[in-house]
Amino acid sequence: MSCTRLGLSLLLLAALGWTEDEHGSEDSSHPKKKGPGHGHWSYADKDEWPLEFPDCGGQMQSPINIDTNSTIFSRELQPVVLAGYNLDPSEQLSLMNNGHTVVLRLPGSLTIASGYPQEYRAMQLHLHWGSPEGPGSEHTVDGRRYDGEIHMVYYNPSSDSIKEAMRQPGGLAVLAAFLQVGPEDNVHYQHLLEQLHEVQEEGKETTVAGFNIEGLLPANLGRYYRYSGSLTTPSCYQTVNWTVFNQTVLLSKEQISLLETTLQGDDDKDLQNNFRLTQSLHGRKVLASFQASLSPRRVPLPDDGVPPMTPAPDGATERSTAEAPGAGAGCPPCADSEKQLGFALQTAEVLAGLFGGLFAVTALAFLIYIYKQRSQTRRPDSHPKPNVIYTAATTDENAV
Ligand SMILES: [Zn+2]
Repeated sequence: MSCTRLGLSLLLLAALGWTEDEHGSEDSSHPKKKGPGHGHWSYADKDEWPLEFPDCGGQMQSPINIDTNSTIFSRELQPVVLAGYNLDPSEQLSLMNNGHTVVLRLPGSLTIASGYPQEYRAMQLHLHWGSPEGPGSEHTVDGRRYDGEIHMVYYNPSSDSIKEAMRQPGGLAVLAAFLQVGPEDNVHYQHLLEQLHEVQEEGKETTVAGFNIEGLLPANLGRYYRYSGSLTTPSCYQTVNWTVFNQTVLLSKEQISLLETTLQGDDDKDLQNNFRLTQSLHGRKVLASFQASLSPRRVPLPDDGVPPMTPAPDGATERSTAEAPGAGAGCPPCADSEKQLGFALQTAEVLAGLFGGLFAVTALAFLIYIYKQRSQTRRPDSHPKPNVIYTAATTDENAV
């Protein structure tokens, strides 16, 4: 056990520059540098991230807006089970202001034991928030932005190192939950918030006594959204297996306010609105572990809501796809057939409308033509049309 812990500690030390950054994604050659230029990037120049960090301009970026009507229910998404989170107070954890967020370093003994096809080990957690003027979660749900968001960052221990894990599809996992104003203080978050003033300035670090880290997440870890995305800060590596919990975490208004107004970032400015805007899905599917929407716009699924898997009635294919989460978790075939069906219905409706319109125009033109023919045949000075085979007028005259 101690050997394992030592090995993990060495791994963490080897990736020191990474673990100290938000999401651990920053260049380790510039550790803890204060002042202008720290970290090479800022939330003020988000549009320029891809220039220095090409992945930031990729097709699998995070965060995203979760359109609940477009999510795909998957029975394969089992409840997330955590192990080892109730830490003894004698264990001291590092809490640091890295200029972009506040980061709590986590021991690798904290794991995601279930809920993913493979085990993940914890590295750190950090928060995103807005300002007194507005909310600051990174993900949004049906366009709604929440007050804040917690990210617990994990790596796949089957990789040789954390740095390698962050470059491999599915090498990283992030558990995300929304923070929202509630009626009372959240005792779990108070462990962090009461020490924020000690790390007010960028680069400051302190320690936090161990507590039950799981308390920072929602009680319900069974209902969540899952998609393949990226780190939300440079380097924006597209190797993150995201879980966004449906249930929000409630903090008091005072606690949210403390989070929004205590820390300072670059140039001693208030550290606020440290969230990236939502990124395009570029065809990615967002899975849900539950029926996220019963909207009538959604194409009905057969029987119990299991998407129509192309070859596997028992969901075996879905499982095999989920084992390669970085390449796109879930069941793209069923999503595609659903999409194609919707498209076919839309196309049929458009064609029906088009042909109906054409028929009406043709009928109207025909009637106008008949009317003109009748007028001409009644006028004595008009030349008779050569194609008298047009007998409609004759018929009319007979009728008159
Ligand atoms: Zn984050």
